[in-house]
Amino acid sequence: MMKKGDLSKLVRPNVRALKAYEAKEIPCRVKLDANESPYSPLPPEKIFSNKDVLCSLNRYPDPEAKALKKAFAKALKVTDKDLLFGNGSDELIYYLITTFGGPVLFPTPTFVMYGVIAQALGEKPIGVPLDATFDLDMDRMLAIIKKDKPKLVFLSSPNNPTGNCYSADRILKVIEASKGIVVVDEAYQPFSSSRGFLPLLKDYKNLIILRTMSKIGFAALRVGYMIADEILINEVNKVRLPYNLNALSQTAALEGIKNKKVVDARIRAITDERERLFDELAALEGVTPFPSEANFILFKVTDPEKIFQGLLKQGVLIKNMDRVIGHAMRVTIGSRAENTIFIDALEKVLNK
Ligand code: PMP
Repeated sequence: MMKKGDLSKLVRPNVRALKAYEAKEIPCRVKLDANESPYSPLPPEKIFSNKDVLCSLNRYPDPEAKALKKAFAKALKVTDKDLLFGNGSDELIYYLITTFGGPVLFPTPTFVMYGVIAQALGEKPIGVPLDATFDLDMDRMLAIIKKDKPKLVFLSSPNNPTGNCYSADRILKVIEASKGIVVVDEAYQPFSSSRGFLPLLKDYKNLIILRTMSKIGFAALRVGYMIADEILINEVNKVRLPYNLNALSQTAALEGIKNKKVVDARIRAITDERERLFDELAALEGVTPFPSEANFILFKVTDPEKIFQGLLKQGVLIKNMDRVIGHAMRVTIGSRAENTIFIDALEKVLNK
C-alpha cells in the first residue's frame, strides 16, 4: 500500500522543485497589483447578450477561432495564417516551449512564467541579468547565445516589472545572432510610444510576436495571440489543445476588436494618468520612480514592506518587488480616482 508520504516522490523532480504560481486574492478597495486595466471598455451586457453563443452552449466552440482570426488579421494587417490564439498568452508561452524546447533564455528580472514553464517542461531556463539601466546586457546575452545555443529567447518589451522597452538595436542584434526562435512579448506594447516589432516580421523569420487582450481591459476573457510566419504557426498549432479558446471569450474578443476606438480611448486615459502618477511619485521625498512604457510604474522606496502594509491598511493593494529588485515596488495605473487614493495613502505612510 502506498503511503501518503510517498506521493510526492511520484512527481517528476523538475515539477517537485517548482512552487505554484501565487495569485493571492487580497481583499482591498483599490486593486493596483496585477497590471489589469481599471476599465471594462464595453458593458458586459453588450458582450454577453449574443444569442448565437447563448443558444449553443451545448456545442464546442470554433476550434480555429476563425472569426476572431479574420478580425485580428485585418486590424494587424497580417494574414489569418500568421495568427494563433491562446487561453491567455501564458498558454502560448507553454506551447512555444513545448514546440521548440530549451535552453530557454531570458533577461532578468522579467515575467516569471518564461522560467516557470521552462522548468515545468523539463527544459533549462537561463536568466541573464539586465544592465544597470534595465536594458539588455549585450555582452552577456551574445556570449550565452553563442555558448548555450538557446532554442528560445523571450524578450518582454516593454518589460514587466521594469516598465522600459529594450533598445530596438539590441533586440535586433539578439534576433540576428540567435539560431533559435526569438519571442518579443508585447503584452504592454499598447501603452508604449514605440511601435513594436510587428513590421519586422517579414524580415526576420525566427521572430515571434506575443500579444494579449489582458492588459487593455479584457483580462477575464484570457485571450492571447501570437503572430509569426505561417510555418511556425502550423508547428505550434500541433501542440495546441483542441477548443482552447472558449465560445464566450471568442465572442467577447470579437466585440472588443470591433470597438477598437473605445479600447484605444481607455488606453490613452491610462497613459495620460501614467504621466501624472510619475510626476506625483517623483515629487515625493524618498520615492524614486522609473520611466514607464507600460501600464504600471516601478519605484524605489527605503522600506517596501512598511509601505506595502501601510497602503494595505488603507485598502490599497500594490506589488512589493523587493525580493526581485532591492527596495522596489510596482503600482498598476488605475483610474484617476484610484491613483489619487493611492498617492494620498502613500504620502500618509511616508510621513508616519
Ligand atoms: N507577458 C507578460 C510580459 C506579462 O506581464 C503577462 C501578464 N502578467 C503575460 C505575458 C500573460 O498575460 P495573459 O496570460 O493574461 O495574456
